[in-house]
Amino acid sequence: MDNLKTKLEDIPKINKRYVPILKKLNLETVGDFLLHFPFRYEDYSERILIENLEAGSTATVMGEVVQSKLIRTWKRKMMITECFVSDETGTVRAVWFNQPYISDSLVAGKGVRLSGKISEDTNGLFFSNPAWELSSRTPTNTGRLVPIYPETEGLTSKWIRWQMQNLIKHAEELVDPLPENILKGLHLPKLSEAVKFLHFPETLRQFELAQKRFAFQQMFLIQLATQRVKISWEKQNAVSIAFNETLTKYFVSSLPFALTNAQRKAAFQILKDMEKPLPMNRLLNGDVGSGKTVVAAMASLSTINAGFQASLMAPTEVLARQHFESISKLFAKQNFKIALLTNSYQLLSHSVERETQNANSSNFEKVSRKELLEQLVSGKINLVIGTHALIQEAVKFKNLALIIIDEQHRFGVSQRAFLQQKIESINDGLPGKIPHLLTMTATPIPRTLTLVFFGNLDLSVLDEMPKNRKPIITKIVSTRERNETYDFVRSEIASGHQVFVILPLVEESEKLTELKAATQEHRRLSEEIFPDLSLGLLHGRIKSDEKEKVMQDFKDKKYDILVATSVVEVGIDVPNATVIIIEDAERFGLSQLHQFRGRVGRSELQSYCFLFTGSKTTKAKSRLGAMEKTSDGFKIAEEDLLLRGPGEFLGTRQSGLPDIAMEHISNVKLIEIAHDYAEQTLADSPDLSAFPLLQRELGKFQQNIHLE
Ligand code: ADP
Ligand code: MG
Repeated sequence: MDNLKTKLEDIPKINKRYVPILKKLNLETVGDFLLHFPFRYEDYSERILIENLEAGSTATVMGEVVQSKLIRTWKRKMMITECFVSDETGTVRAVWFNQPYISDSLVAGKGVRLSGKISEDTNGLFFSNPAWELSSRTPTNTGRLVPIYPETEGLTSKWIRWQMQNLIKHAEELVDPLPENILKGLHLPKLSEAVKFLHFPETLRQFELAQKRFAFQQMFLIQLATQRVKISWEKQNAVSIAFNETLTKYFVSSLPFALTNAQRKAAFQILKDMEKPLPMNRLLNGDVGSGKTVVAAMASLSTINAGFQASLMAPTEVLARQHFESISKLFAKQNFKIALLTNSYQLLSHSVERETQNANSSNFEKVSRKELLEQLVSGKINLVIGTHALIQEAVKFKNLALIIIDEQHRFGVSQRAFLQQKIESINDGLPGKIPHLLTMTATPIPRTLTLVFFGNLDLSVLDEMPKNRKPIITKIVSTRERNETYDFVRSEIASGHQVFVILPLVEESEKLTELKAATQEHRRLSEEIFPDLSLGLLHGRIKSDEKEKVMQDFKDKKYDILVATSVVEVGIDVPNATVIIIEDAERFGLSQLHQFRGRVGRSELQSYCFLFTGSKTTKAKSRLGAMEKTSDGFKIAEEDLLLRGPGEFLGTRQSGLPDIAMEHISNVKLIEIAHDYAEQTLADSPDLSAFPLLQRELGKFQQNIHLE
């Protein structure tokens, strides 16, 4: 007897040649197959009378075949099936190309349903390649809401629907991980029912209910996961770092600028957190250029002053190096030893030993990796800056009390959970304690999302820009306006400024193409457009020390223009750069574009961002239009979230659940309900042992988000 665990290859109706294709989709058993959900629906539910058909619309008709024939067009080597179907109001023609077998089924006198788009030619209205079914069969492909599945080579939606029809009875055997009282309380269908509703909805309402159920389930699992991390984090101890007001004030007054109110407030929240003997877990959520570094420096200052070590991690070596330079400068008057530790660098800076406050490479001492690690464990180094590898390797500290993570927008939810686990087991040199954790985002995260995904973090927001900033002038440039932009670039360079040109790279698999495109564009610009100027080139294939040199040369004004692909971290601070051109801008998410735009406008000079696009679709244009309209990173992030959905926005594809459920994820009400139910469930049973099915589902879910 078949059941949910039966292998698909043992189902007689499934032809063996489909087995490897199904495997590719991770579909091995009947149970897997039932959880392979459609990603959209074609609404063929409403039957239309033939006399009411309109060209260009989508419709379902029901009638009787009056004539059908197979036409061969020898010239174009095509077989056309032509069929006439009548109902009580008229007759309509249907044609199919290269599917001769259809004429075997559609013989005169048979009842038939046709669903599809209505076209028109000189002979009148007709269906072109419609979905069809004999009226005697249960509506599967026509006359209903027809599910469309994500298709793979060799596996059509029609085939999946047909098999699903046969296997859907096993949905009854699915056990529901959601506790019954929750389902009852929210009037949600149980799992078996929801699965049936998704594959074969009889009404829109059924489909919506199923969608709501899966959206809730997703939300509920996320809430359970984050709340459990929070509970385990709160059970840990940390060192209490006294807030030294005099020192903090002295540091702030020595800065060349006044802090914004938002910076002041965030720094205060952080310093207050660190006073507690519990580990801080705070997210500093601020736009590019909102001044997160100095806030991070204030937290480090306090920690070091209390006699402990601090560390700061950046997503790339280049950014780590930049932090090392700017923080060495900020701490020039402190008696601190600061280290940079990455694969390529092992550098030290010791502030008071330096004559000049001008941080440049000559002030840094090169040491061996071994030496640096020794100084870390002996406590000679007060602050270490590096990449994420810092906590992933066996680096030992004397007394690490603060970890600051500066992350990029690419940094997803799963890596964050992973990092948190790592931190709980770091060699911080403080037995029984874990370091305080401050995470800084490079992309503003909309509030609804922080609630969902970062419910375990406390939040500080830098929603205010330093006053001296001029908004960056942003313009969408179509192909034929390119030359004007190049003229403008020329005039900016003539006034002594510099320019970035960013080329897109969307997929990893495009790496080779990327290399070619970048080299070609660099050559085109150097030879044809700006033969008299000097152009640098950066792409993913350049070795990291060379990369560093190119960036440093750009900073040192050896190049007027830097051509870079988007894989390269261009998070470098070049205050003299006033123009950024982004090629094929429509290929980027809005948040990413905003991120790139933040490379300019880092000084008092007026800056410009040109979004090049060849795209003519209004959708792409209105999307890019958001960039012209606002420079508020939080607004852009919200728009981006709306357009792309949270999975892509956060760089984490939550596997295992239908995309259609993901669409409901920004539903704040639902999130709040899920939050409350999760809290209640964990209060009833902190380890979920009272809900074994739920416990198992959560395990599966967490494994999925860790594994991508
Ligand atoms: P981000 O938040 O993107 O990390 P940074 O910390 O790199 O921003 O700050 C960007 C620039 O703004 C730096 O050059 C920094 O010195 C400067 N800055 C930071 N805070 C202020 C402020 N309150 N007023 C003026 N300039 C500031
Ligand atoms: Mg920064």
